[in-house]
Amino acid sequence: MNRTIFTLVFAINLSIYGFGQDSLDVSLFSKPDMTGKLWQDFFNGDSILFVIPDVELSKTDSTVLFACKRSSKLVKESELKADDYDKKMHVWGVVTDFKYWDKFDMPINQTAKGFEYSGLIFENIGNSMFYINSKANRLAYIGNSIQAIDPIRRSMVGTYQIYIFNDNVIVFNGNENEPLNDLEKIRKEYFTRHINSKYFKISSGSLVVFDFDKQGNKLDAFIDSLAILIGINTQEFHQLHIYLYNHLNDVSYLSGMPSPWQMYGINVNNIAHASSLDLKTIKHETTHWLIHQKIGANSNNFYVEGFRQYAEYLFDSTRFKEDLKITKENTDLLTIKLINGDSHEFFSSSNNYPISGVFVHFLIELIGLDNFKQYYGRNEINKLLLQNQNIDKDELINRFKEWVQ
Ligand SMILES: [Zn+2]
Repeated sequence: MNRTIFTLVFAINLSIYGFGQDSLDVSLFSKPDMTGKLWQDFFNGDSILFVIPDVELSKTDSTVLFACKRSSKLVKESELKADDYDKKMHVWGVVTDFKYWDKFDMPINQTAKGFEYSGLIFENIGNSMFYINSKANRLAYIGNSIQAIDPIRRSMVGTYQIYIFNDNVIVFNGNENEPLNDLEKIRKEYFTRHINSKYFKISSGSLVVFDFDKQGNKLDAFIDSLAILIGINTQEFHQLHIYLYNHLNDVSYLSGMPSPWQMYGINVNNIAHASSLDLKTIKHETTHWLIHQKIGANSNNFYVEGFRQYAEYLFDSTRFKEDLKITKENTDLLTIKLINGDSHEFFSSSNNYPISGVFVHFLIELIGLDNFKQYYGRNEINKLLLQNQNIDKDELINRFKEWVQ
């Protein structure tokens, strides 16, 4: 983000967020629509054009594209006809690559190196924006690089109309025609303590009680054991940033993703958010972080959560037995749609965690941990199954259901 503008906004908004010493007053935030109505309206009914600029995409960029696309028709900007602009459009790509940006009729403007919204200029390579209009016929995932757009898809967005990211972090969110929530400013006031350990950078709220010498060391030791169990090294490990919140309720607003689901912790784009020092949650999020850094960035929530869940079985076999029981009782939930679905699909039921974990366990038995890791990191698990094992997804699901019983 452009620094000058940021400082300016910071000064203007100084007294807007008056939370007490400890907890957030969420009534001061722009109000999210927990039903996600606009999102639903956009994806229900009429066909959607997925509009991209006329540029060549690398293989990595295309992976992000297809992970964002959902069920819409891919069209290049130059292929659009005049009446297409009356249709629903999911506009996706580097904002400066579009030739006729203004035709999309959104309150976002192109600048020399990025974009502008409501007087704020975003020109960092890591800036991106989610936007949905009030008519629910324009949805935008745009940014200053394709890699900056990727975090949008991995976040739980849709209860606000606008989310602006900077290097993986949601820095502003809110609704059109209202002042945006300046999240970085609020975080600066809320997190009063900052600590560094071997693997962690921890920022905590003023009420969080935690004995760093004991707990912090335990966390570092956890990473060391996990690395051995899943066969990876921890050299050049980038520290995980953890935000520890005073109250569970603060997590959803200050992480930037208020949602209808109770959040115990989330690891969004490699920043972990948790309430107080909940070791279980932090271990969960840390496992994601380790896998992401050392094995690769998989774009499929089902495999991401499943592999994390599997890692827990390596420490605790009773966990596997519990998950197996839940999976047996809910085999109907396992569908191709669930495996290929986006975050909304996966996070809509907590049973999807055990199911994904047991499924990954089954896959690893079938193809081996090393194979799984390799293809996981390349986002090619489906390809591996089809090419090396000659198994398509329908058959795989059938085999899994037999295996579970
Ligand atoms: Zn998780």
